[in-house]
Amino acid sequence: MEIRCICGSECIKHTSQILKKMDLFYRPCVQCKEVNFRKFSPLTSQIDLDKIDNNFGSCKCGKRHLDVVIAHILKIMIEEGIKDKKSTLRDTCVPLITPAYPTDSVPFLPLDSLVILSGEVDEKCARRIVKEVNEVKGVLKGNLKDTVGIKDSESKPHMYELLAGCDMRFDIVQTPFGAIGIYKNQGKIHIEFPRVKSPKIELLKKALEEFDHPSVLDCTCGPGTLGIACLKAGARKVVFNDIWKPAVEMTVINLEVNGFPVKISGNKEGLIASGDRFEVYCADIKELKNITDQKFDICIVDVFPEVDPEEFLKAAEELAGKVILI
Ligand SMILES: [Zn+2]
Ligand SMILES: [Zn+2]
Repeated sequence: MEIRCICGSECIKHTSQILKKMDLFYRPCVQCKEVNFRKFSPLTSQIDLDKIDNNFGSCKCGKRHLDVVIAHILKIMIEEGIKDKKSTLRDTCVPLITPAYPTDSVPFLPLDSLVILSGEVDEKCARRIVKEVNEVKGVLKGNLKDTVGIKDSESKPHMYELLAGCDMRFDIVQTPFGAIGIYKNQGKIHIEFPRVKSPKIELLKKALEEFDHPSVLDCTCGPGTLGIACLKAGARKVVFNDIWKPAVEMTVINLEVNGFPVKISGNKEGLIASGDRFEVYCADIKELKNITDQKFDICIVDVFPEVDPEEFLKAAEELAGKVILI
Protein backbone atom coordinates (compact mmCIF):
# COMPACT_ATOMS: atom_id res chain seq x y z
CA MET A 1 0.00 0.00 0.00
CA GLU A 2 1.34 3.44 -0.89
CA ILE A 3 1.17 5.94 1.93
CA ARG A 4 0.88 9.68 1.71
CA CYS A 5 0.10 12.26 4.34
CA ILE A 6 -3.23 14.01 3.77
CA CYS A 7 -1.30 17.31 3.54
CA GLY A 8 0.34 15.99 0.35
CA SER A 9 3.90 16.25 1.69
CA GLU A 10 6.37 13.56 2.60
CA CYS A 11 5.45 13.55 6.32
CA ILE A 12 5.27 9.76 6.56
CA LYS A 13 8.31 7.53 6.42
CA HIS A 14 9.04 3.95 7.37
CA THR A 15 9.81 3.56 11.09
CA SER A 16 13.21 1.99 10.39
CA GLN A 17 14.29 5.09 8.42
CA ILE A 18 13.54 7.36 11.36
CA LEU A 19 15.07 5.08 13.99
CA LYS A 20 18.39 5.21 12.16
CA LYS A 21 18.60 8.98 12.68
CA MET A 22 16.99 9.10 16.10
CA ASP A 23 20.08 9.69 18.23
CA LEU A 24 21.02 12.83 16.34
CA PHE A 25 17.61 14.34 15.88
CA TYR A 26 17.48 16.85 18.75
CA ARG A 27 21.11 16.87 19.79
CA PRO A 28 22.97 20.18 19.42
CA CYS A 29 26.16 20.33 17.34
CA VAL A 30 29.29 21.89 18.91
CA GLN A 31 28.34 25.29 17.52
CA CYS A 32 24.68 25.28 18.58
CA LYS A 33 23.94 28.18 20.92
CA GLU A 34 22.65 27.68 24.45
CA VAL A 35 20.03 30.22 25.52
CA ASN A 36 18.97 31.32 28.94
CA PHE A 37 15.57 32.89 28.85
CA ARG A 38 13.68 32.91 32.11
CA LYS A 39 10.55 30.94 31.30
CA PHE A 40 8.34 32.51 33.97
CA SER A 41 9.25 36.17 33.30
CA PRO A 42 7.73 38.25 30.50
CA LEU A 43 9.69 37.74 27.29
CA THR A 44 9.49 41.49 26.48
CA SER A 45 11.45 42.26 29.67
CA GLN A 46 14.30 40.06 28.43
CA ILE A 47 14.67 40.91 24.75
CA ASP A 48 13.62 43.42 22.08
CA LEU A 49 11.05 41.46 20.01
CA ASP A 50 12.37 43.00 16.77
CA LYS A 51 15.55 40.98 17.23
CA ILE A 52 13.67 37.69 16.93
CA ASP A 53 13.44 36.12 13.47
CA ASN A 54 14.61 32.85 11.87
CA ASN A 55 18.27 33.92 12.21
CA PHE A 56 17.94 34.55 15.93
CA GLY A 57 19.65 31.73 17.86
CA SER A 58 20.15 29.73 14.68
CA CYS A 59 23.13 27.54 13.86
CA LYS A 60 24.72 26.34 10.63
CA CYS A 61 23.45 22.84 11.42
CA GLY A 62 19.90 24.16 11.04
CA LYS A 63 18.72 23.66 14.62
CA ARG A 64 17.55 26.05 17.32
CA HIS A 65 16.99 25.66 21.03
CA LEU A 66 13.32 24.92 21.89
CA ASP A 67 13.07 28.13 23.98
CA VAL A 68 14.24 30.24 21.03
CA VAL A 69 11.56 28.68 18.84
CA ILE A 70 8.89 29.32 21.49
CA ALA A 71 10.13 32.94 21.81
CA HIS A 72 9.72 33.33 18.04
CA ILE A 73 6.16 31.95 18.27
CA LEU A 74 5.34 34.27 21.20
CA LYS A 75 6.67 37.30 19.33
CA ILE A 76 4.19 36.59 16.51
CA MET A 77 1.36 36.00 19.00
CA ILE A 78 2.09 39.35 20.66
CA GLU A 79 2.21 41.14 17.29
CA GLU A 80 -1.13 39.57 16.35
CA GLY A 81 -2.73 40.63 19.64
CA ILE A 82 -3.24 37.01 20.78
CA LYS A 83 -0.89 37.48 23.75
CA ASP A 84 0.00 40.61 25.71
CA LYS A 85 3.41 42.00 26.60
CA LYS A 86 3.40 40.30 30.00
CA SER A 87 3.28 36.84 28.43
CA THR A 88 5.95 34.30 29.28
CA LEU A 89 7.47 31.39 27.36
CA ARG A 90 5.76 29.11 29.87
CA ASP A 91 2.23 30.11 28.90
CA THR A 92 2.78 30.46 25.14
CA CYS A 93 1.55 27.08 23.85
CA VAL A 94 1.89 23.32 24.29
CA PRO A 95 4.89 22.24 22.20
CA LEU A 96 4.54 18.77 20.67
CA ILE A 97 7.77 17.63 19.06
CA THR A 98 7.87 15.14 16.21
CA PRO A 99 9.28 12.54 16.19
CA ALA A 100 8.48 12.27 19.90
CA TYR A 101 10.49 10.18 22.34
CA PRO A 102 11.83 10.82 25.82
CA THR A 103 14.85 13.13 25.74
CA ASP A 104 17.07 13.86 28.74
CA SER A 105 17.86 17.44 27.77
CA VAL A 106 16.04 20.33 26.11
CA PRO A 107 15.77 19.55 22.41
CA PHE A 108 17.37 21.61 19.66
CA LEU A 109 14.78 21.57 16.93
CA PRO A 110 15.38 20.96 13.22
CA LEU A 111 13.05 22.04 10.39
CA ASP A 112 9.37 21.00 10.67
CA SER A 113 9.74 19.21 14.00
CA LEU A 114 7.08 20.95 16.08
CA VAL A 115 3.28 21.00 16.22
CA ILE A 116 1.86 23.50 18.69
CA LEU A 117 -1.44 23.51 20.57
CA SER A 118 -2.96 26.78 21.78
CA GLY A 119 -6.40 27.68 23.08
CA GLU A 120 -6.11 31.28 21.96
CA VAL A 121 -4.48 31.36 18.54
CA ASP A 122 -6.55 32.41 15.49
CA GLU A 123 -6.18 31.42 11.85
CA LYS A 124 -4.21 34.48 10.73
CA CYS A 125 -1.73 34.12 13.56
CA ALA A 126 -1.44 30.35 12.94
CA ARG A 127 -0.66 30.91 9.26
CA ARG A 128 2.06 33.41 10.16
CA ILE A 129 3.62 30.99 12.68
CA VAL A 130 3.79 28.14 10.14
CA LYS A 131 5.13 30.47 7.44
CA GLU A 132 7.65 32.35 9.53
CA VAL A 133 8.92 29.87 12.13
CA ASN A 134 10.86 27.20 10.24
CA GLU A 135 10.59 24.57 12.96
CA VAL A 136 6.78 24.66 13.21
CA LYS A 137 4.92 22.31 10.87
CA GLY A 138 1.39 22.76 12.24
CA VAL A 139 -0.79 24.82 14.56
CA LEU A 140 -3.77 23.33 16.41
CA LYS A 141 -6.40 25.20 18.37
CA GLY A 142 -7.62 23.47 21.48
CA ASN A 143 -7.15 22.73 25.15
CA LEU A 144 -4.84 19.98 26.40
CA LYS A 145 -7.46 19.09 29.06
CA ASP A 146 -10.04 18.15 26.43
CA THR A 147 -9.45 14.57 25.32
CA VAL A 148 -9.51 14.20 21.56
CA GLY A 149 -11.42 11.35 19.93
CA ILE A 150 -14.65 9.55 20.83
CA LYS A 151 -15.22 8.11 24.27
CA ASP A 152 -18.00 5.63 23.54
CA SER A 153 -20.89 5.06 21.15
CA GLU A 154 -23.11 7.57 22.99
CA SER A 155 -20.79 10.57 22.91
CA LYS A 156 -19.89 13.02 20.20
CA PRO A 157 -16.31 13.12 18.96
CA HIS A 158 -14.07 15.98 20.00
CA MET A 159 -11.24 17.28 17.82
CA TYR A 160 -8.68 20.04 17.91
CA GLU A 161 -8.95 22.43 14.98
CA LEU A 162 -6.02 22.43 12.57
CA LEU A 163 -5.58 26.13 11.74
CA ALA A 164 -2.45 25.93 9.58
CA GLY A 165 0.13 23.46 8.29
CA CYS A 166 0.05 19.73 9.03
CA ASP A 167 -0.52 18.04 12.39
CA MET A 168 0.91 14.62 11.52
CA ARG A 169 3.20 13.54 14.35
CA PHE A 170 5.28 10.46 14.99
CA ASP A 171 5.77 8.82 18.41
CA ILE A 172 8.55 6.34 18.97
CA VAL A 173 7.41 3.76 21.52
CA GLN A 174 9.96 1.39 23.01
CA THR A 175 8.68 -2.12 23.69
CA PRO A 176 10.40 -5.35 24.78
CA PHE A 177 9.67 -6.56 21.22
CA GLY A 178 11.42 -3.67 19.47
CA ALA A 179 10.72 0.00 18.83
CA ILE A 180 7.41 0.90 17.18
CA GLY A 181 6.65 4.11 15.30
CA ILE A 182 3.15 5.55 15.65
CA TYR A 183 1.86 8.26 13.32
CA LYS A 184 -1.15 10.33 14.30
CA ASN A 185 -3.00 13.39 13.11
CA GLN A 186 -2.69 15.09 16.45
CA GLY A 187 -5.93 17.03 16.06
CA LYS A 188 -7.90 13.79 15.84
CA ILE A 189 -5.98 11.37 18.10
CA HIS A 190 -5.42 11.92 21.81
CA ILE A 191 -2.00 13.04 22.98
CA GLU A 192 0.24 10.58 24.79
CA PHE A 193 3.65 11.72 25.93
CA PRO A 194 6.14 8.92 25.31
CA ARG A 195 7.85 7.52 28.39
CA VAL A 196 11.00 5.48 28.78
CA LYS A 197 8.95 2.58 30.11
CA SER A 198 5.25 2.46 29.30
CA PRO A 199 3.08 0.89 32.04
CA LYS A 200 0.59 -0.19 29.35
CA ILE A 201 3.26 -2.11 27.45
CA GLU A 202 4.44 -3.74 30.69
CA LEU A 203 0.92 -4.99 31.47
CA LEU A 204 0.56 -6.26 27.93
CA LYS A 205 3.88 -8.12 28.09
CA LYS A 206 2.75 -9.96 31.24
CA ALA A 207 -0.49 -11.08 29.59
CA LEU A 208 1.25 -12.20 26.40
CA GLU A 209 3.69 -14.33 28.39
CA GLU A 210 0.83 -16.52 29.62
CA PHE A 211 0.20 -17.79 26.08
CA ASP A 212 2.06 -19.36 23.21
CA HIS A 213 1.48 -17.13 20.15
CA PRO A 214 -1.96 -15.92 21.31
CA SER A 215 -4.75 -14.39 19.26
CA VAL A 216 -5.48 -10.86 20.44
CA LEU A 217 -8.38 -8.44 20.07
CA ASP A 218 -7.30 -4.83 20.56
CA CYS A 219 -10.85 -3.55 20.89
CA THR A 220 -10.05 0.12 21.54
CA CYS A 221 -6.97 0.27 19.36
CA GLY A 222 -6.55 4.02 18.79
CA PRO A 223 -3.63 4.46 16.38
CA GLY A 224 -2.70 0.81 16.89
CA THR A 225 0.20 0.90 19.37
CA LEU A 226 -0.68 -2.09 21.58
CA GLY A 227 -1.91 -4.34 18.77
CA ILE A 228 1.23 -3.66 16.74
CA ALA A 229 3.29 -4.51 19.83
CA CYS A 230 1.42 -7.88 19.94
CA LEU A 231 2.27 -8.55 16.28
CA LYS A 232 5.92 -7.74 17.01
CA ALA A 233 5.74 -10.11 19.99
CA GLY A 234 4.67 -12.96 17.70
CA ALA A 235 0.90 -13.05 18.21
CA ARG A 236 -0.80 -15.58 15.91
CA LYS A 237 -3.47 -13.07 14.98
CA VAL A 238 -4.41 -9.53 16.01
CA VAL A 239 -7.78 -7.92 15.36
CA PHE A 240 -7.71 -4.14 15.70
CA ASN A 241 -10.92 -2.25 16.34
CA ASP A 242 -11.92 1.28 17.18
CA ILE A 243 -15.21 3.11 16.85
CA TRP A 244 -13.32 6.27 15.84
CA LYS A 245 -12.63 6.18 12.09
CA PRO A 246 -9.60 8.54 12.18
CA ALA A 247 -7.98 6.17 14.70
CA VAL A 248 -8.29 3.06 12.52
CA GLU A 249 -7.09 5.04 9.51
CA MET A 250 -3.94 5.76 11.53
CA THR A 251 -3.74 2.08 12.57
CA VAL A 252 -3.62 1.12 8.88
CA ILE A 253 -0.77 3.58 8.21
CA ASN A 254 1.08 2.45 11.33
CA LEU A 255 0.84 -1.24 10.40
CA GLU A 256 2.38 -0.44 7.04
CA VAL A 257 5.25 1.73 8.34
CA ASN A 258 6.13 -0.88 10.96
CA GLY A 259 6.57 -3.63 8.40
CA PHE A 260 3.11 -5.22 8.25
CA PRO A 261 1.80 -4.79 4.68
CA VAL A 262 -1.90 -3.88 4.49
CA LYS A 263 -4.68 -4.68 2.01
CA ILE A 264 -7.59 -2.23 2.08
CA SER A 265 -11.00 -3.91 2.26
CA GLY A 266 -13.58 -1.27 1.31
CA ASN A 267 -15.31 -1.14 4.70
CA LYS A 268 -17.50 -4.24 4.34
CA GLU A 269 -19.38 -4.74 7.62
CA GLY A 270 -16.87 -2.69 9.53
CA LEU A 271 -13.81 -4.43 8.06
CA ILE A 272 -11.44 -1.68 6.92
CA ALA A 273 -8.27 -3.56 6.10
CA SER A 274 -6.43 -6.83 6.57
CA GLY A 275 -3.04 -8.45 6.19
CA ASP A 276 -1.00 -11.53 6.92
CA ARG A 277 -1.83 -11.91 10.63
CA PHE A 278 -4.32 -9.09 11.25
CA GLU A 279 -7.65 -7.45 10.49
CA VAL A 280 -8.73 -3.86 11.18
CA TYR A 281 -12.36 -2.99 12.03
CA CYS A 282 -14.20 0.24 12.69
CA ALA A 283 -17.16 -0.75 14.88
CA ASP A 284 -18.86 -0.31 18.22
CA ILE A 285 -17.46 -3.04 20.48
CA LYS A 286 -21.04 -4.12 21.30
CA GLU A 287 -21.55 -4.90 17.58
CA LEU A 288 -18.25 -6.68 17.11
CA LYS A 289 -19.54 -10.13 18.10
CA ASN A 290 -22.15 -9.89 15.32
CA ILE A 291 -19.57 -8.85 12.74
CA THR A 292 -16.90 -11.43 13.45
CA ASP A 293 -17.50 -14.79 15.11
CA GLN A 294 -13.84 -15.12 16.07
CA LYS A 295 -12.86 -15.90 19.67
CA PHE A 296 -9.62 -14.60 21.10
CA ASP A 297 -7.13 -15.60 23.79
CA ILE A 298 -6.69 -12.00 24.94
CA CYS A 299 -8.77 -8.85 24.63
CA ILE A 300 -7.14 -5.50 25.38
CA VAL A 301 -9.42 -2.77 26.74
CA ASP A 302 -7.84 0.68 26.84
CA VAL A 303 -10.43 3.41 27.41
CA PHE A 304 -9.95 7.12 28.15
CA PRO A 305 -9.32 7.73 31.86
CA GLU A 306 -12.68 9.48 32.38
CA VAL A 307 -14.71 6.66 30.79
CA ASP A 308 -16.37 3.88 32.82
CA PRO A 309 -14.95 0.67 31.28
CA GLU A 310 -17.90 -1.48 32.43
CA GLU A 311 -19.71 -1.92 29.08
CA PHE A 312 -16.39 -2.46 27.27
CA LEU A 313 -15.40 -5.19 29.73
CA LYS A 314 -18.79 -6.89 29.42
CA ALA A 315 -18.55 -6.98 25.62
CA ALA A 316 -14.90 -8.07 25.78
CA GLU A 317 -15.67 -11.02 28.05
CA GLU A 318 -17.94 -12.49 25.38
CA LEU A 319 -15.11 -12.32 22.87
CA ALA A 320 -12.00 -13.45 24.73
CA GLY A 321 -10.77 -15.84 27.42
CA LYS A 322 -8.65 -13.23 29.13
CA VAL A 323 -9.56 -9.54 29.28
CA ILE A 324 -6.95 -7.00 30.29
CA LEU A 325 -7.92 -3.49 31.24
CA ILE A 326 -4.97 -1.30 30.46
ZN1 LIG B 1 1.60 16.08 6.48
ZN1 LIG C 1 24.27 23.47 15.58
